[in-house]
Amino acid sequence: PLPSVVILGRPNVGKSTLFNKLVGRRQAIVGDEPGITRDRHYGVVEWLGRSFELVDTGGIVPDEEAIIPANIFKQASRAIEEADLLLWVVDAREGITPLDEEIARHIHTTGKPVFVVANKVESAQVRTAAGEFYRFGFDRLFPVSAEHGTGTAELLDEILAVT
Ligand code: GDP
Ligand code: MG
Repeated sequence: PLPSVVILGRPNVGKSTLFNKLVGRRQAIVGDEPGITRDRHYGVVEWLGRSFELVDTGGIVPDEEAIIPANIFKQASRAIEEADLLLWVVDAREGITPLDEEIARHIHTTGKPVFVVANKVESAQVRTAAGEFYRFGFDRLFPVSAEHGTGTAELLDEILAVT
C-alpha cells in the first residue's frame, strides 16, 4: 500500500486548501462557511516519481464537531492509526489558540511522526511568528502558504524523505 499522510488541525487553518494544493486538483471543498459539506478527503499525491495517500481529516470531522479536539481523534481515528506521518496544520497569522494546545496534546499521544505545517505565511513577519509553534516540541516545522503554493515543494520533499 502507499504511505499514508494525514492532515489534522482545527477548523479554518487551511487543511482543505493544502490538500487541494498537494493533490493538484480541487478535490476538497474549501469554504469560509463553518461546517460546509465536504465530499472528498482522500487523494493520491505524486511527487518526483513517488506517490503517497493524503487524507484531509477536515473532510471527515465536521467543523462544529472539530471544536472539541477529542472528536477529531475519535472520528478520524482509523485514518490516524494507519498514518505513517501526521501533518498538523496551524494558522501562523492567528498564532497559537487554546484549541491548538489541546490538539497538540492529543497528537503527542499518538506517537506518530509529526510535521507542523504553519500555513498562511505570506510575509517575513508571519514567517518569524510561525516559530512560536516550536514550543510544542515537534522538531519539524514548515512555513507554507497553501493558497500561493509557497513552501509546499520543500514540504513534499521532506514527506517523501520520511515515508
Ligand atoms: P480548513 O477548515 O482547515 O479546511 O480550511 P480551508 O482550507 O477551508 O480554508 C479556510 C480559509 O482560509 C479559507 O477562506 C481559505 O481561503 C483561507 N486560506 C487557506 N489557506 C490559506 C493561505 O495559505 N493563505 C491565506 N491568506 N488564506 C488561506
Ligand atoms: Mg476543510
